[in-house]
Amino acid sequence: MSYMVAASLEQALKILHEKGGNVQVIAGGTDLYLKKPLPDLVDVSSVPEILGICRDEGMLSIGAGVTHTEAAASAVIQSEAEALAEACRRVGSPQVRNMGTIGGNLVNAAPAADAAVALVALGAKALLVNHAGSSREAFVEDLYAGYNCSYVDGSSEILLRFLVEPCGQGMGSAFMRFAPREALSLPLVNSAAFVRLRENIIEEVRVVIAPVKPAPTRLVETEKLVLGCKPGEDIWRKVEYTAASEVEVRGSLLRCSEEYRYHLVGVLARRALKKAVERALNRQRR
Ligand SMILES: Cc1cc2nc3c(=O)[nH]c(=O)nc-3n(C[C@H](O)[C@H](O)[C@H](O)COP(=O)(O)OP(=O)(O)OC[C@H]3O[C@@H](n4cnc5c(N)ncnc54)[C@H](O)[C@@H]3O)c2cc1C
Repeated sequence: MSYMVAASLEQALKILHEKGGNVQVIAGGTDLYLKKPLPDLVDVSSVPEILGICRDEGMLSIGAGVTHTEAAASAVIQSEAEALAEACRRVGSPQVRNMGTIGGNLVNAAPAADAAVALVALGAKALLVNHAGSSREAFVEDLYAGYNCSYVDGSSEILLRFLVEPCGQGMGSAFMRFAPREALSLPLVNSAAFVRLRENIIEEVRVVIAPVKPAPTRLVETEKLVLGCKPGEDIWRKVEYTAASEVEVRGSLLRCSEEYRYHLVGVLARRALKKAVERALNRQRR
């Protein structure tokens, strides 16, 4: 196994090109180091193009190499993409958050990857470049190919950045998760929501839940239920019921029963949506 550290994007792409698929991109290594045997690795964690959080033509541009710790601590993400800050704050333990990156979280493609769930709710787009220098853009929700399997091929392609519309007037997002312990525990269920209100009516909504399928899953029936509605107490019970009815979950002896997971789906979807609406209403009042 060889380990190469790329100092620039050009150098990283050159290595991918020369190795012809026989090398793997590594960022924080928190997922990759668990895989055996390890392939040859090219470390992109110092490549400037995948680092930092900035604005790009009105969008938040978040580097794929931003760690969970950086995202959770970012004042911009906390105030304009709350769901992502909340998701990154809940990942693993301080050590895992200090090393693990948002990009790695998506490419590893775990069904309930916390940052990926939040990015889908936020409608984030990913920017990628391949070893031949061609760029592409894709919605995060379209990059899951299956269980632990991504359409981003880390042997030939580098995920550069995520573009997220910042939450402004009348917009809000939130992330919720339930795990048996606060630290070092994967979620039994996690959920994220985004809403845009116009005159107190929900005119755009995304509600995401996991793990119910190989990828973070939009709750389309729940979204239809609330779209065009004025949010009030009467709607939240229906949200809880609809969310739990539109998914199929499995129980396991080690984690939790099927019944309990259905319960969590309803409760967390309701809480995430309600919190996103509260934040959107607060922004309308300012
Ligand atoms: C103890 C422990 C607890 C954890 N708890 C959680 C948790 O609670 N919630 C959660 O969501 N995750 C959790 N994780 C998973 C992990 O920390 C995250 O998925 C992390 O974000 C992965 O990022 P990384 O930079 O370490 O990825 P790496 O391990 O470096 O890479 C993972 C995959 O992504 C690819 N890759 C990485 N960066 C790029 C890039 N820029 N372009 C193209 N391909 C790339 C690699 O080739 C590899 O296939 C946990 C992991 C551990 C070990």
